[in-house]
Amino acid sequence: MNRFIGWLPVSNNQVKQRLSEAPKPEPFPVMQNSTADVADGQIREISAHGFCSNCQKEHFLPTGRSKNVCYALTAKLAGHGHLGFLEHFSRQQDYSMADLFGDARGKMFGVLEGVDPRGNSVILYAFSGQINGQWVVPGWAPPLFDLQEWKNVNDDTEKTVKNYTTRIINHTGSANELQNLKRARKELSQQLMKELHSLYTVKNFRGESAPLHSFYSEKRGIPTGAGDCCAPKLLNHAFARSITPVSMAEFYWGKTNRSQLKKHGCFYPTCRDKCYPLLGFMLCGLESKTEDGCLP
Ligand SMILES: [Zn+2]
Ligand SMILES: [Zn+2]
Repeated sequence: MNRFIGWLPVSNNQVKQRLSEAPKPEPFPVMQNSTADVADGQIREISAHGFCSNCQKEHFLPTGRSKNVCYALTAKLAGHGHLGFLEHFSRQQDYSMADLFGDARGKMFGVLEGVDPRGNSVILYAFSGQINGQWVVPGWAPPLFDLQEWKNVNDDTEKTVKNYTTRIINHTGSANELQNLKRARKELSQQLMKELHSLYTVKNFRGESAPLHSFYSEKRGIPTGAGDCCAPKLLNHAFARSITPVSMAEFYWGKTNRSQLKKHGCFYPTCRDKCYPLLGFMLCGLESKTEDGCLP
């Protein structure tokens, strides 16, 4: 069922009706591996976690109250159909979620509960990657790079890559020429990804920062989409605003992804290939502040 509402004005009754139709996320899965934390004989749900090579152990955040905030967020997503509702109601078409139920398929959304330097409780929101081609949406955690720098690196090279694609599609010459075109395009794309990844800055709560590539094996390289998940965006945003994270939860919203692993309205823990190596570093230094998930 397509739950996208569009950006047309809707009456209060329509909104209420749609909110009641919004599916409730399923219970968070209890993890089968060492990441399940047993405190006082009770299994605590862990959302963000990763292995820290510095401390030689895992650091984590529990789902805590963030999970309840996620429930409230799902109702808003279902009701609005765009992401402009946190701060920017005038650019709803730019932030449309229509594609999440179509070709673009769904994406992860995340909530971080934290405490600011004055002791006030703060909620941060994030979506993974881009929404409708936008990296930055008012009220949501920004990406790990400066958008203008990203555009400077990306825009021209991407045009050249597209140009290669057009030449490959319309190619009429020899098979050898075609191979050369394909190889040139691949090399250019890989170079572009490398340059874009170098713009990401990863920080942690010990005041350290590290380049993105340092978290992944040189041989396998940086996985596609690394650093674009909700968890690193939320932690980076918290760090930038001097907010101490207390809990975090992430859920999937939209059409089931191609690998069939993510389903609409379900909660998921930290992803293994992209975030797990990253979050060990990003969460380092936090436990001493939150004392294993308790308020600082
Ligand atoms: Zn991830
Ligand atoms: Zn550590």
